[in-house]
Amino acid sequence: MKFIDDLDIIYPYTYDSSNMKGYAEMLFIPSNIAELRNGIIKLYDENIKITISGAGTGITGARVPSGGAVISIEKLNSIYLSEDKSSVKIGPAVSLKELDIFLNDYGLFLPPNPTEYNASLGGNVATNASGARTFKYGAIRNYVKSLKIVLSNGDLLSIKRGENFADENKLNIKSEKGKIYSIELPSYEMPNVKNASGYFSKENLDLIDLFIGSEGTLGIFVEIELEVQKRPENVLGGIAFFDNKNKLIEFVDILREKSISNNKINIIDNNNITARLIEYFDIESLKLLKAKYSEISDDAIGAIWFEQEYNPNFEDKLMSDWYSFIENFTSLTDLTWFALNDKEHEKLKEFRHELPLQVYENLTSNSQKKVGLDCAVPINKFNELFDFYYENCPKLGLKYVIFGHIANCHLHVNIFCQNDEEYILAKSFYDKSIDRALAFKGTISAEHGIGKLKKDYLVKMYGKKAIQEMINVKKIFDDKLLLNIGTMFDIN
Ligand SMILES: Cc1cc2nc3c(=O)[nH]c(=O)nc-3n(C[C@H](O)[C@H](O)[C@H](O)COP(=O)(O)OP(=O)(O)OC[C@H]3O[C@@H](n4cnc5c(N)ncnc54)[C@H](O)[C@@H]3O)c2cc1C
Repeated sequence: MKFIDDLDIIYPYTYDSSNMKGYAEMLFIPSNIAELRNGIIKLYDENIKITISGAGTGITGARVPSGGAVISIEKLNSIYLSEDKSSVKIGPAVSLKELDIFLNDYGLFLPPNPTEYNASLGGNVATNASGARTFKYGAIRNYVKSLKIVLSNGDLLSIKRGENFADENKLNIKSEKGKIYSIELPSYEMPNVKNASGYFSKENLDLIDLFIGSEGTLGIFVEIELEVQKRPENVLGGIAFFDNKNKLIEFVDILREKSISNNKINIIDNNNITARLIEYFDIESLKLLKAKYSEISDDAIGAIWFEQEYNPNFEDKLMSDWYSFIENFTSLTDLTWFALNDKEHEKLKEFRHELPLQVYENLTSNSQKKVGLDCAVPINKFNELFDFYYENCPKLGLKYVIFGHIANCHLHVNIFCQNDEEYILAKSFYDKSIDRALAFKGTISAEHGIGKLKKDYLVKMYGKKAIQEMINVKKIFDDKLLLNIGTMFDIN
């Protein structure tokens, strides 16, 4: 067991992709679970604060330490496929990319598709990550079958989905050491939208769901079992460019409607147009992307990336249907980039991924600050929020981009600020937007989590009592309050 105190080695673990910077005095990189448990017991005995580090792609400062020790799980990177090929058991350090390459060889995939392929699955489960395909498949929560969790006192919990439900709001779990942990669930009601804000809590909760999305505040995931599925063989994708914003929104509304029946996304293997993902790029996003993609037309005011799984017997018909469908909403139909094979799909994915990368690049190379909205609202309120963004954001006179998961009524608004004055201006727009989203029964964070940047807004969303209820839960699993302190909420 080795604790590293060389600050140069520790430095890369003191920030994340939010550009927030912290500090730590110690770094611990265990080679296996036993070593992790011995190390964490030592830290626990000495009352040393612990921050859990995944791959550092988080954009809310969740893994940014404020003193104490960082535990990096980077060496826990095993992958085992179950015999019936329906699930994988992995170490938390396995990245989305590594898992995808592994599964591809077996014709399998993990349905949710968070954009950042370098993120660890441990980080993904800790933030309940989701991505473009979440429209059809939901967030990563839906695929977590079991978790092994090391607590700050070194104890180990093994939780399987479907085995331990709350009796109303009470839950008990027995650890490996035989200790019973008894909790009372927070009493707030979660919004009925895509959500990654605060602990998951509802009546008759499955215990595993409390830990998913808990942002490392309750324990360290050391083994994750995920359901995997047969990789769809035939996927039709495209990026369509639009010359009119209202028409673009009309296109999205109709496409969303075509893809949903009885509140469920259709099983998409027929000969009709439906979408498993619908992603939005506004004109400012296209301007940013032009640095790398000079072929983007000056006439385009926005674009939509879509994908549909389909039956190959209908390929020609579907291609022609999509073309005609798009034609109803834009005169730029001929510029549509269509994709049918892996190579073509990769190009579209790269285009989408390039946007947050350009945002990050913009921030770091110009030492700017970003104000970033991550709200989702119910479908019937989405267009109102969309109009609010566009009525108010351009008035700030600051550089911004609006893009993302329009299928889930969830857009990212990123505003770039050069100085404190601009930051205050952007923050006032941010506050008003959050108020709108909450008034519409939406969420302050649909996928990035709360981290250290959105704590005040979590109080706004659920109220002070709810925060105290979350802290009470944390105290049961982390009695000395050592783990990821300052993430999700402050403890006074
Ligand atoms: C370009 C870009 C695109 C992105 N796109 C998406 C997207 O489409 N969807 C999305 O949801 N997010 C997205 N993100 C955000 C980020 O990738 C996710 O939040 C991701 O889940 C973080 O994983 P990580 O391994 O980098 O975790 P880190 O940033 O290292 O940590 C995040 C949180 O997880 C905790 N944690 C990490 N590992 C463990 C563990 N083993 N046990 C317990 N807690 C742990 C940390 O303590 C911290 O609280 C994007 C980020 C970037 C930079």
